Amino acid sequence: MVAGIVAEIIAAGSELLTPFRLDSNSLYLTAELNALGVACRRKQVVGDRQEDLAGAMREALGRADLVFVTGGLGPTDDDVTRPAAAAATGAALVAEAGLAESLRRRFAARGWAMPERNLRQAERLDGAEILPNPNGSAPGQWLPLQRAALCLLPGPPRELRPMWAAEVAPRVQRWCAARGLAPVPLAARQLTVAGRPESAVDEIAAPIYGRYPEVETTILAASPGEIELHLRAPAPRSARLEALLAELAAALAPAVFTTSGEPLEAVVGARLRARGQTLAVAESCTGGLLAGRVTAVAGASDYFPGGVVSYGNEVKARELGVRRETLEAFGAVSAECAAEMAAGLRRRWGVDWALAITGIAGPGGGSAEKPVGTVFIALAGPETWRAEPEVQRCRLSGERDRIRRWSTTLALEALRQALGDGPAKPAR
Ligand code: ATP
Ligand code: MG
Repeated sequence: MVAGIVAEIIAAGSELLTPFRLDSNSLYLTAELNALGVACRRKQVVGDRQEDLAGAMREALGRADLVFVTGGLGPTDDDVTRPAAAAATGAALVAEAGLAESLRRRFAARGWAMPERNLRQAERLDGAEILPNPNGSAPGQWLPLQRAALCLLPGPPRELRPMWAAEVAPRVQRWCAARGLAPVPLAARQLTVAGRPESAVDEIAAPIYGRYPEVETTILAASPGEIELHLRAPAPRSARLEALLAELAAALAPAVFTTSGEPLEAVVGARLRARGQTLAVAESCTGGLLAGRVTAVAGASDYFPGGVVSYGNEVKARELGVRRETLEAFGAVSAECAAEMAAGLRRRWGVDWALAITGIAGPGGGSAEKPVGTVFIALAGPETWRAEPEVQRCRLSGERDRIRRWSTTLALEALRQALGDGPAKPAR
């Protein structure tokens, strides 16, 4: 990032050091800071020990221009952010009569008497500006120091986010401007690719973005079978960003299914609707996951009448018309079975397209010939498209969840490609 303004984030809270809670505030803050042209150089999670927190703040203030601390502003004994900040900066904590009064009113409005200990929340760091919290009892604080500024924010995201927008973002902008640091907003784009391994995408993409040094790129395996490329550049260079995006989209076509972050199922749904066509699904090892994804898109009833969870052979035969000889000769996990599932459903329900998935998601059930992760995906479509269903045999790796999710992505991608290549138009 070009701007020379560096922020650090400290997430305070012992609960964030357990396996049960994730620090999401720093993700939000990073996105907001980047949008203002401020880079985040470092972030950390620190438990509720005053000396640990004070040490972390002292070090961060020695390195960064802006330090944000989230959490630990409550009234309980484990909320130590205020005294830790006082210890780190040398600023005294002063009782703020106005704050105490507004806290009392907040309690009174709910018909409660304010516990004494809530008075802690009326303590202000000497020299700090109070950031009102209309959504909770803990106000934030903004403390300008000689070099850096320290900002204390409440932990609950529903309190932190509105406070950021109303109080913090304008202060960050003013603070930068007063130092002659004009932050450069970032422009961001992304494209998403289905059905290609990360290394294959990187092999194609890396030489291209090597020619765009001003664009920062991140490659992310977003969900099984889907790879996201995130591109960011200073807003004044957004023409270069668009040029890179176009070049990548062309090089990775036809696997790029969106450049606007739209989910694959929404892209497929939009194309079905545009063509006035319908889709039904027959699922064995995914047990309804594919139908779940298709119907996660609002308005899917326009093109999706439903599906069959044909987990057992009996249902495959009775509801989809898979022939018993096929099941006996090739097994339920076979190209032949997948093809009959798709063709049978399409014929019986009179839909334009039918997708079928059958496979071995594991952990048991694999064999040398058909190891865990063997999945057959069949697509049956209009005769003008293809006389016989198109079947792919996949060898997917990983745990059951991952294999199941990946299968649905490959199925949707097969249909998307059949419906037409190239990135879809952005969502309506
Ligand atoms: P309160 O007045 O509610 O106690 P607080 O400022 O003291 O506010 P914490 O006690 O640290 O905040 O956290 C309250 C709750 O906010 C946590 O239980 C957690 O659900 C959420 N929270 C805290 N920190 C984070 C974080 N970094 N990311 C996401 N959620 C968080
Ligand atoms: Mg708390």
